[in-house]
Amino acid sequence: MVATSDEYAVSPGAAHASRWRKAYSRGVSQPQPSEPRHHRVLIVGAGFSGIAMAARLREAGIDDLVILEKADDVGGTWRDNRYPGCACDVPSRLYSLSFAQKPNWSRDFASAPEIWGYLRECVTRFGLTDDIVTGADVVSAQWRGDRWRVKVRDGRTWTAGALVLGVGGLHVPVWPSIPGLREYQGRLLHTADWPADAHLTGKRVGVIGTGASAVQLVPAIAGEVSELTVFQRTASWIVPRHDQPWSPARQGLFARWPITQRLARWHTYLRLEVRVLGFGRLERLRPYIERQALARLARDVPDPVVRAKLTPDYALGCKRVLLSDDYWPTFTRPNVTLETDPIARVDATGITTVAGTKHDLDALVLATGFDPGGSFDRMSVTGVTGHTLGTEWVAAGRPTHLGITVPGFPELYLLLGPNTALGHSSVVLQIESAIRYAVQAILRADKDGPAMVRPRAQRRFASWVRRRTRRTVWASGCRSWYLDEQGRNVTIWPASTARYRWATRRVKPSDFEPVRLSEANPQTS
Ligand code: NAP
Repeated sequence: MVATSDEYAVSPGAAHASRWRKAYSRGVSQPQPSEPRHHRVLIVGAGFSGIAMAARLREAGIDDLVILEKADDVGGTWRDNRYPGCACDVPSRLYSLSFAQKPNWSRDFASAPEIWGYLRECVTRFGLTDDIVTGADVVSAQWRGDRWRVKVRDGRTWTAGALVLGVGGLHVPVWPSIPGLREYQGRLLHTADWPADAHLTGKRVGVIGTGASAVQLVPAIAGEVSELTVFQRTASWIVPRHDQPWSPARQGLFARWPITQRLARWHTYLRLEVRVLGFGRLERLRPYIERQALARLARDVPDPVVRAKLTPDYALGCKRVLLSDDYWPTFTRPNVTLETDPIARVDATGITTVAGTKHDLDALVLATGFDPGGSFDRMSVTGVTGHTLGTEWVAAGRPTHLGITVPGFPELYLLLGPNTALGHSSVVLQIESAIRYAVQAILRADKDGPAMVRPRAQRRFASWVRRRTRRTVWASGCRSWYLDEQGRNVTIWPASTARYRWATRRVKPSDFEPVRLSEANPQTS
């Protein structure tokens, strides 16, 4: 095991963080063994995916594993996203692992810190502490004939029979190419990379973007800043969140009789799962929900000019439908302005719009989202043919089979890979389905030797995704991160979570071909 010494161990809990960070830095300064350390499975990333994968591998009898995490703590997106108001917009009882239910969530939609704490608890609960190496930023992975050779930024290397990328679907922030952004002299922040010392009280703040992050941030800071200007390019569809705290009685009930929490989870699952029909076949439902949303907008925002600006001009569901009870009412505050004139440029002191309005700002927040392909191509992963999961793969529409395996990349498993994201339910369900599939494939390789998915299986999957997407609202013509620059759906699973569970229920031997040991990467053999 890599992390046999306590030096490398993760000690969940904020109180321990600095102690193990110090311990970790002692660990890395020790001399490195000349031979890379070998494991049956190497997992990159200690977020939801990595932690759940390790727990399930253990359960399947595979203990020889390591998780490499680039940051100094576990938690992935829930560690990084710390902007005010950050919370999950999927109910916690479903946005949690099916095999690690937490009876004492504080509310229906848990905050980012609470979810981060939950993930740290999972690390302890599944005894994964010693399997995690933090500060290990993977820069490359190459298939070497019968194993993966994985290198981290500081030069340490590992080898492994199987490589699992649990690097998160939405991880790499998008820094928009707005003229003059680099010249801005005030505080420049991104919601996905929020520093602990970002104090906005009493400041004139601008927020660019009106997506899922912005609708949480804007109401959270509106009361504390002196002036808030929201720069909107596209209005968002927003439906009520109805968030409620969990009473001690409910927490006690769930703790005492876990079956009651299971039933509540099933109820939430079914309630969300039926929504998928609205994205596709049951498009007649959409105008009804749109009318309800617009009626609420009319109640929340009496000013007809502001209301018109907040009214979306595309079909509900084409972009992610947002949940909020307090975003629209924020625009009735005297210190909040909605700017819909396009941004012309940024200079040292603020933003000027195309019509020439200048907004002087002490701080500028970019709520401009993520690059969904960025997580995979920030490291160089090289398969048997010498091709990488880099620019070419991204340009080809990130081809995979079921979002999990890639032709030419033996014993490589992606979690939250292309075409596995959701617009209607919890992605944790998708992660768990992909994990079941990956664990099966790894156990199969133990018996039959390394294998890789056949191109024909990948082509069949791609063609199904294309056909299926054509019939959904995502193809109705709006701009969203679900589609790439060529308008291809490279992100979202265009069906129900039940369908994904069914598609990933078992590894079909005919979809895979064995890897001959001579099939080494030509660049490295
Ligand atoms: P997003 O939904 O991609 O929104 C980005 C926003 O920035 C959009 O309003 C976009 O406008 C705007 N924008 C981008 N570039 C711009 C530019 N150059 N000029 C002006 N405006 C620009 O990003 P996000 O809000 O961070 O959310 C991304 C995803 O993260 C969500 O869909 C969700 O899946 C996830 N998320 C989830 C939660 C949660 O509660 N579970 C919370 C936050 C995020 P256009 O619409 O015109 O492109």
